[in-house]
Amino acid sequence: TMEYGPAPESDKEARAWIAALGGETKLFIGGQWRKAKSGESFETASPATGEVLVKIAQAGPADVDAAVKAAAKAQPGWAALSGHQRARYLYALARLIQRHSRLFAVLEALDNGKPIRETRDIDIPLVARHFYHHAGWAQLIDTELAGREALGVCGQIIPWNFPLLMLSWKIAPAIALGNTVVLKPAEYTSLTALLFAEMCQKAGLPEGVVNIVTGDGATGEQIVNHPGIAKIAFTGSTDVGRKIREATAGTGKSLTLELGGKSPFIVFDDADLDAAVEGVVDAIWFNQGQVCCAGSRLLVQESIHNRFVSKLTARMETLRVGDPLDKAIDIGAIVHPVQLARIRELVDAGVKEGAELHQPKAGLPAKGCFYPPTLLTNVHPASTVSRVEIFGPVLVATTFRTPAEAVELANNTEYGLAASVWSETLSLALDIAPKLKCGVVWVNGTNMFDAGVGFGGYKESGFGREGGREGLAAYSKPKWIAKAKPITDKPAPQASGDVVS
Ligand code: NAD
Repeated sequence: TMEYGPAPESDKEARAWIAALGGETKLFIGGQWRKAKSGESFETASPATGEVLVKIAQAGPADVDAAVKAAAKAQPGWAALSGHQRARYLYALARLIQRHSRLFAVLEALDNGKPIRETRDIDIPLVARHFYHHAGWAQLIDTELAGREALGVCGQIIPWNFPLLMLSWKIAPAIALGNTVVLKPAEYTSLTALLFAEMCQKAGLPEGVVNIVTGDGATGEQIVNHPGIAKIAFTGSTDVGRKIREATAGTGKSLTLELGGKSPFIVFDDADLDAAVEGVVDAIWFNQGQVCCAGSRLLVQESIHNRFVSKLTARMETLRVGDPLDKAIDIGAIVHPVQLARIRELVDAGVKEGAELHQPKAGLPAKGCFYPPTLLTNVHPASTVSRVEIFGPVLVATTFRTPAEAVELANNTEYGLAASVWSETLSLALDIAPKLKCGVVWVNGTNMFDAGVGFGGYKESGFGREGGREGLAAYSKPKWIAKAKPITDKPAPQASGDVVS
């Protein structure tokens, strides 16, 4: 892959950090690094090469229990601090992430397989921003969010596609409001969460405010079922989300779910087609398409279909797939062989169902977990690849004739996370945007996020919002303290009467 450009980002610092783990990671509980009591572990590998990086501790019930107890012990003291005091810790975390951004970026690229250009320029800066944003909110709590109190211990379970970014979406609002957390990273990508725990130590965060337990779905279940947990925040697959919803029903635990998607990318005949092609690149080939809000269904107006597809396939030829640590790479590795196999299976199913397959001529790296940018055309809206979330670099295309048909096709899904609409007629775009059943509609753009705006889905894409005021509301509960009589702690000015000025 070196033929493409500059030398790979040096991974020396990340290698040294991994070596210092001593072969097997520990859990971060109550501010201390502890060996998993379960004694179990599993390997984490770099998907670009298959190289095993380190063994990850598999937290068991006793470990989860210890983490929840540490979080419960820390919570009253943490919640008793003023918003300003908690803000200082969030600012410190944001600055530490910035100071160590290169290490975070390389580690994420190694462990997840995503291109260093994305981790360095997008993921890690957004993580820092999320902490800065919520530090600001912590300062405003007493004025803007008066009358709300923290929930308690929050169990947070995150996926592997944006490991540190999803951690920041979970931890920043929770601790800003006085909650403490037990977070479990996804089993494929635990490393940056462990580096984050080191930052909590460096920031002097009180022990037990943030606890990181690694492990697989079984560890996740133990967190979900622990009676000491006040709220579960989950991001991941719709299937697991459904199980968690069942497990928490009737328990009194609060719940927010951010699940899958099959978001439409709608191109009208008057769109700026070159801009829309770049939009597609960002919508479905960013992060190898492993994005919950990926624009994975291309709905293109019939009259421009052929022109658009030929522009798009030409652009696909220029996308470079390869070593995630190479700065010139556009598409890195798929996170794990299991995911790669699933992508291949679904694309095969699409072809069997009659779709036409478009992939660039350039081959893939000889080794590693790679899949090329892929377009399937002539796809029937009822076919498997139109319905099922592929969670890979695969775009499926269908045509429409009228705006009403575009809306109908766009909404013809069990999901409802995002949509992207491309037209030079703003009135057309703004007319159909409210008709799309999803949490966010991007007009002539895609992947626009803002920590100040709630993100989340309709239907099977989950419920609740992360970010913005809605996200903060989901980490606190309103409390009205009603007084029957005016109260004063000073002696009443008069011996009798209840009027106090
Ligand atoms: P997954 O649901 O298998 O795993 C997500 C997390 O849940 C992991 O940490 C896993 O260990 C844990 N887990 C697995 N089984 C569990 C159980 N029974 N109880 C508790 N925890 C359990 O999903 P994944 O493969 O890691 O992630 C891909 C999926 O996540 C995609 O479907 C994608 O759309 C979705 N996703 C959604 C968003 C969003 O914001 N809506 C963001 C990123 C990813």
